[in-house]
Amino acid sequence: MSVFSLHRRLCRNRAFWFVLLLILSFFILSSCSSDDTGDKDGISIVCANFAGYDFTKEVVGRDNENIEVIFLSSGSVHSFEPSFRDIADIRSCDMFVYVGGESDAAIDTLLSSMEGVNVFRMTECVELLLEHAEHSVPGEEHDHAHDNDEEEYDEHVWTSLFNAVLISKAICERICLIDPENADIYRENTRVYADKLMELDACFADLFESVGDKPLVFGDRFPLRYFADRYSLEYYAAMSGCSHSSEPSVKTVVQLIDTVRKEDVKAVFYIESGTHDVAERIAANTGTTAALFNSCHKISDRQIEDGATYLSVMYENLETLRNVLT
Ligand SMILES: [Zn+2]
Repeated sequence: MSVFSLHRRLCRNRAFWFVLLLILSFFILSSCSSDDTGDKDGISIVCANFAGYDFTKEVVGRDNENIEVIFLSSGSVHSFEPSFRDIADIRSCDMFVYVGGESDAAIDTLLSSMEGVNVFRMTECVELLLEHAEHSVPGEEHDHAHDNDEEEYDEHVWTSLFNAVLISKAICERICLIDPENADIYRENTRVYADKLMELDACFADLFESVGDKPLVFGDRFPLRYFADRYSLEYYAAMSGCSHSSEPSVKTVVQLIDTVRKEDVKAVFYIESGTHDVAERIAANTGTTAALFNSCHKISDRQIEDGATYLSVMYENLETLRNVLT
């Protein structure tokens, strides 16, 4: 077992015990208070990650007052630490949307303690890809062969706009079952949204086609397997998917620096979570710049209040790529 997966396993165990304790105390407390029915008149949908939340808002309509769409910000970065309120919301909701990947063990533990939750998993809507692409993480090439039996599917399914369409359509059909009376509205909302997603998808495709085979270099984790696969991009990253490790090996950094020089790469990317140290270091060593690629998985309540949507964030990524690649 690699240090990577051991660390991951320990983290998962910690989350498991935390959630188990919370479930126990929740049920003890709620059995003491008789007025906790959790029942509501309207329809409520609880979403444990930003992309699922944003797709759901588009499907039901952003100004829809009959359906409450709740974003659990506690679940947005794979370290789910729900509050009592979150648990009550999940228990009484009409539909619960989450990724359903390997980092969601704590959510799975919570769901297994509840009966009758209408669960929607984004990972069930798309074709899954393995976390590591061949040679995408230079320093890990050797580990890769030995760790084959532990290789996991990448859970960042929303990073491809095409997948976003598939997920939104599946969310739509599920909501139509809950509220068949308004099914036509949801299907029309989804059709309009899917068109917008595909329009942006075409912009990315055009851009990548116009610049030829320039690799993307990430001095960071790489949760963009699905995005890269959509446009057959070549990429190099310091760390895989959502690795808990925050420091790549010296060998990996040296190889990334070589790649930047050899391929005449103009910018080294980092993602929105964590420090940007590695990307900054590689950029400083190669006379290039460091640039943000927002993978849409750590979006705060504040950013949502300020109007951030999946589409707005992906359009910013398009602009960044255009500036860097052309
Ligand atoms: Zn992740």
